[in-house]
Order: sequence, then C-alpha cells, then structure tokens
Amino acid sequence: MAINVTPIPGLDPAVNAIRRRTADFINAEILPNEEALWGRRQPMGQTEDEREHSRRQSIELREDVKAKVNEAGLWAPHLPTEYGGMGLDFLELAYMYEILAYAVGAASLFGIAAPNSGNASVLVKYGTEAQKKQWLLPLIEGEMESGFSMTEPDHAGSDPRSITTEAVRDGDEWVINGHKWFTSNGIDANFFIVMCRANDPSGELGQPGRMTQIIVPADAKGVNILRGIGVFGHSTSDHCEIVYDNVRVPIENTLGLVGQGHQAAQDRLGAGRVYHCMNSVGQMWRAFDLMVERSLTREVHGGLLKDKQFIQGFIAESYLDVQSARLMTINAAEKVAADDPDVRTAISAIKVFVPAAYHRVVDRAIQVWGGAGVSNDLPLGQMYLAARVLRLADGPDEVHKILMAKNILHRYEDGVSWNFGT
Ligand SMILES: Cc1cc2nc3c(=O)[nH]c(=O)nc-3n(C[C@H](O)[C@H](O)[C@H](O)COP(=O)(O)OP(=O)(O)OC[C@H]3O[C@@H](n4cnc5c(N)ncnc54)[C@H](O)[C@@H]3O)c2cc1C
Repeated sequence: MAINVTPIPGLDPAVNAIRRRTADFINAEILPNEEALWGRRQPMGQTEDEREHSRRQSIELREDVKAKVNEAGLWAPHLPTEYGGMGLDFLELAYMYEILAYAVGAASLFGIAAPNSGNASVLVKYGTEAQKKQWLLPLIEGEMESGFSMTEPDHAGSDPRSITTEAVRDGDEWVINGHKWFTSNGIDANFFIVMCRANDPSGELGQPGRMTQIIVPADAKGVNILRGIGVFGHSTSDHCEIVYDNVRVPIENTLGLVGQGHQAAQDRLGAGRVYHCMNSVGQMWRAFDLMVERSLTREVHGGLLKDKQFIQGFIAESYLDVQSARLMTINAAEKVAADDPDVRTAISAIKVFVPAAYHRVVDRAIQVWGGAGVSNDLPLGQMYLAARVLRLADGPDEVHKILMAKNILHRYEDGVSWNFGT
C-alpha cells in the first residue's frame, strides 16, 4: 500500500514539497519493488548459480534506484550541498526521514546509512580540510565505510563519563589503548571515530583525561577486531568488539579540539534522537497500514479480522500511539529548530516514549498477521528488533527519565510550574 501524504496546512511549503517528492519517489520506485530490492524470498531448490544471479539482480536494482534518487535530487539529504547533499535544514530533514522510513531499509538508497551518515555529519562540522579530503569525501563517494567506537564492555555505556580508552601523546602521535564493543559496521569499516580520554604529558593540549574523538584507520597496527557480536540469536553481526592495543595515529587525526569529544557526541546523538524518532514514526505508520490492510481481508472463525473487537482495539490503540508519538516528535523537532530552552526535556521525552510506542504498534501488527508477521516476507520482524534496541541505545529509558524529572523538578524548585503550552 502507498503512503498517503498530503500537504500539511500551515507548514512551510518547502517542507511540504520535500514530503511530497519523497513520498512520490518511494510510492513509485521502492514499495512496488521491495521484494526484488532486498531479495527477501529465497525459493527452495535454487542452485548456487541461481542464488548468485538473483543476488546480483538485487544489487543492480539497488544501483538503478540510487541513480534515480540522484536524478530526483533526493541524494544525501543530511549533507550540505557543497558535499553533494540536499542541504536541508533540521525540520526539512526530520520531515523527510518520516516519509523515507515508511519504506523500511530504503534510507541506504538515498545515501543515508548509519553510522556513516552520523560520522559524515561530524566530519563536516569538526573535520579539518585535510581530514575532509582523506576521510569525508571517500565516505560520501561510497569508497569508504566507517564505524563509531564509543561503548566499552567493562564500563556503562549509559554513563559516558565512565569511558577509559586512553590516547596518550607521544611526540607527533597518539598512542591509543582501550577495549570497545558494539562498534556497528566494524567488519567493513575503513576507519573508526574512537572516543578516547586524551592525555598529553607536555600539557600543550590541555588537562589530562579530556574526552576526545580520534580518527583511527581500521588497518592501523594494533586495531584488533575480536568478533562480530551475535545478536538476537544470530551467531554474528557487524557490531564488533575491538581492542585498540598501542595503536599509533598522527596527532592530526584528532577530530575537533581535544576536549570536544563529548560535545561532538552530543551533537550527533541530540539531533540524531529526533531523527531516530521520526524514522520510528515512519515505520509505525507502515506497521499501522499493514495491520489495518490485513484486518480487511483475513478471515478467521467465520468473519473478517476487522469485525473482531480485539482487533478494533489494536487499531484504535495503535492510532493513539502513532498520533501521540508523531506530535511529540514534531514538537521536539520544532524546539530544536527554535533553540528552545526546554529542548533537552523534549528530546528525552520522545527518546522514552517513541521507541516504546513503536514497539507496541509493531507488536500488534505482528499479532494481526500471525506467523507471516515474524517472517521475512514482511518488514515487521526487522522493525520489532530495531524498536527493542532503540529503548536502550543512545541513552536507555531510565537515563532519559532521570534527566526529564530533574529538569521538571528544578523548574518547580525555582517557583515556576511546567508550561505545557510550548
Ligand atoms: C545493535 C546495537 C548497535 C550499537 N551500535 C553502537 C555503535 O555503533 N557504537 C557505539 O559506541 N555503541 C553502540 N551500541 C551500544 C549502545 O549505545 C549501548 O549498549 C547503550 O549506550 C547502553 O550502554 P550499555 O550497553 O553499556 O548498558 P549500561 O550502561 O550497562 O546500562 C544497562 C542498563 O542499566 C539501566 N540503567 C542505566 N542507567 C541507569 C540509572 N541511572 N538508573 C536506573 N537504571 C539505569 C538501563 O536499563 C540500561 O539499559 C550499540 C548497541 C546495540 C544493541
């Protein structure tokens, strides 16, 4: 079923235009071809050659779609125009992500693939001209892959202050030692942006222990990828456990200033959380459509699912979830765009509410589809796992609830009540 997008009254015409163009593209080029694009069905009895042939066809089709995305001027919406992107502002991008996410997995066909897209944005903002030439341009051209290496197995990822990976200056080089895990895209990455505590014995680069991001080539001596961590029952994945053992890189690989690492990560995660939530809303929208569509045609126990009150309850509850998640996320996005003082509370609120609502909606859609709901014939199983991960990644629920409560309590302690009218 096509996504139903019409202009939103009162919204900037430029944003409505982006929504329209994105919806037209995914309705025409992606949704009708999903099965062929991702090779979801693998018929029994195929020879190795036949499997290879259909794999190649999928790759060719994806390349064709990417060329059409480029022609339509929809490539790399997250990047400035001077780097071949669309140069969208924050709200345009957030609204575009919602529509794009409806076609699950399609973002990569528009030049947006985590963690490369986040790394590219950080390089645009903090990179030197030399770093941009060496790392950013090949990343954008698709000649390189990258990873973001922050979380450590022995310290709480939900408390970034606990990071211990250390970069000690030795002349013109950093010497990096540390143990990371869940570095996504680690298998294919040509370089990692590694979050370290920097220590310059000369004192030239500031106080020791300041959080700093350093670019580390994946083939540098001492970068030891121990494994792709198996997740959700799979024996392996591209989320890698990596030991950095006396890895030497030039001081010029410092991304931004020594001590700016935490801010750079916040830039990435803060705005990123709004984008993740808009993506989640787009996927909830898809799950909702799939659920309602199925209820109209599936007969069980002498009647259509749509006529069973349990299922009507699922539809009504899911409407409440999609609508409230969407409006909260748009409100948070508007606060980001307006630099509103309550923006951190709004972002934490959506980071808690939206993944949970997304999880509930997908769960109901799976239930309505029965066995087909968890099969690879539909995108629901993939969405379900993604929704579960979102509840702990980029700050688990509990951390965001604590932040919200603190901000709210401070307001009342100052003698002012919360203003819900913003
Ligand atoms: C699929 C996947 C991909 C990932 N990709 C990357 C990546 O590319 N790069 C990267 O650096 N990391 C990545 N991560 C790691 C992710 O960011 C961390 O798992 C997340 O930040 C949580 O950190 P942790 O696992 O150390 O959990 P912990 O910090 O050990 O927290 C465990 C739990 O403790 C609870 N908790 C935490 N604080 C409090 C509190 N104050 N009060 C009460 N309860 C609390 C929460 O329920 C939390 O889930 C990925 C993770 C997954 C699952």
